[in-house]
Amino acid sequence: LSGAPITAGAIDGLSQHFPACMLHLHRTLRSTKHLKHFGRLQYTLFLKGVGLSVEEALNFWRGAFSNMPADKFNKEYAYNVRHAYGMEGGRKNYRAKSCQQILLEHPPGTGEAHGCPYRHFSIDNLTVLLQKQMGVTDQAVLRGVKQDTEATKYHMACNRVFEYAHAAELKREKEKGQTFTTLTHPNEYMVRSWELKNP
Ligand code: SF4
Repeated sequence: LSGAPITAGAIDGLSQHFPACMLHLHRTLRSTKHLKHFGRLQYTLFLKGVGLSVEEALNFWRGAFSNMPADKFNKEYAYNVRHAYGMEGGRKNYRAKSCQQILLEHPPGTGEAHGCPYRHFSIDNLTVLLQKQMGVTDQAVLRGVKQDTEATKYHMACNRVFEYAHAAELKREKEKGQTFTTLTHPNEYMVRSWELKNP
């Protein structure tokens, strides 16, 4: 993010800019102090993609797993964080997952929080997440989301929520002649949200 080096301590505040998938991972991590493998991977790569350094990522995960003894974290989890940053094993530079990858790969099972809520949640659970965690109170928006998900247009539902959450900022941009382009990546969603709210 331009002008804002990201630290572990800044992530709670920045989560107001997250799309539903990452907000659900973040809130689950905060409430259970744990995430399963694919959730950690999806969230680690997202945070890496928005500029969290490997040192700050290790601080973040260490702090988040606060119920876990330090040696267990260091033995079983720190490796995976460093691996995601290309510092272990095959040293690949793994990229943050796109919406398409999240929608199609590894559907979440019981107790897992990864995936895309627009695709993987029931409409009732999705509505609760949108109302309680993302502040979507407009019934027309919620009805539109329901229709989008029923038509399997998950990214359209996500873009509908983005447009609702940034209506004033997008109106201002439109007046300046700038047009809204559809978001297809969680990182794009987060960066765009941050830029719109911090002009
Ligand atoms: Fe995340 Fe993409 Fe689903 Fe939106 S459409 S919640 S950004 S995976």
